[in-house]
Amino acid sequence: MDFFNIFIGDTTWTFILEILVRCFLMFIIIISFLRLSGKRGVRQLSLFELAIILCLGSAAGDPMFTKDLPISHAFVVFIVILFLYRLVTWAMVKHKKIEDLLEGRALCVVKDGLLVYKDFQKQSYSHDEFFSEMRQQNVEHLGQVRTALLESDGILSLLYYEDEEVKWGLPLFPDAYCKADVLKINTFYSCMKCGETKILNTLDQECSRCKHHSWAKSLKTRRLG
Ligand SMILES: [Zn+2]
Repeated sequence: MDFFNIFIGDTTWTFILEILVRCFLMFIIIISFLRLSGKRGVRQLSLFELAIILCLGSAAGDPMFTKDLPISHAFVVFIVILFLYRLVTWAMVKHKKIEDLLEGRALCVVKDGLLVYKDFQKQSYSHDEFFSEMRQQNVEHLGQVRTALLESDGILSLLYYEDEEVKWGLPLFPDAYCKADVLKINTFYSCMKCGETKILNTLDQECSRCKHHSWAKSLKTRRLG
């Protein structure tokens, strides 16, 4: 293996200097572009925005160090993408259908303290991921949650019950989210798959909502913080 070739190749000091200038110019173009896109900042990218960023990535990086690639090419790419971005954003504001198509729709994943099973199956978001997201919002069990929406940018929006309205619900923390092995009378149990909560006759009873067979002891604690 020729390490000289890998690291140095036919680099000249003149080209190193050129790289400096190219980086400087591309940096200014990238910043100007991002400002012109009208976005204020990036916390979560929608799929559409991620696609735009991917398209731009190579157009932005290559001209910084590729000898035969004039910056004007990248500039044209940027102008075209900026135009498309603005056009599509405008169309999404005008037509809800285009927005749903490109960004995806918000999905209702919890309603009245129960997992909305149909919607939950539709999206490729695992129980684990979802529970972890709720735990980070200090949700101890589903009985505290009136509604949970999974927004198109992946953020979970939660509405809670008032303290006095909190119901028995499925625990979300690992120490309590475990299969119950003793059946107690007049005690609520929650289906570990869909959150259905009821008093059981036997511990291997089938869940009437999702046909699942494992139950965890329900919680009814109030929300802290
Ligand atoms: Zn169930």
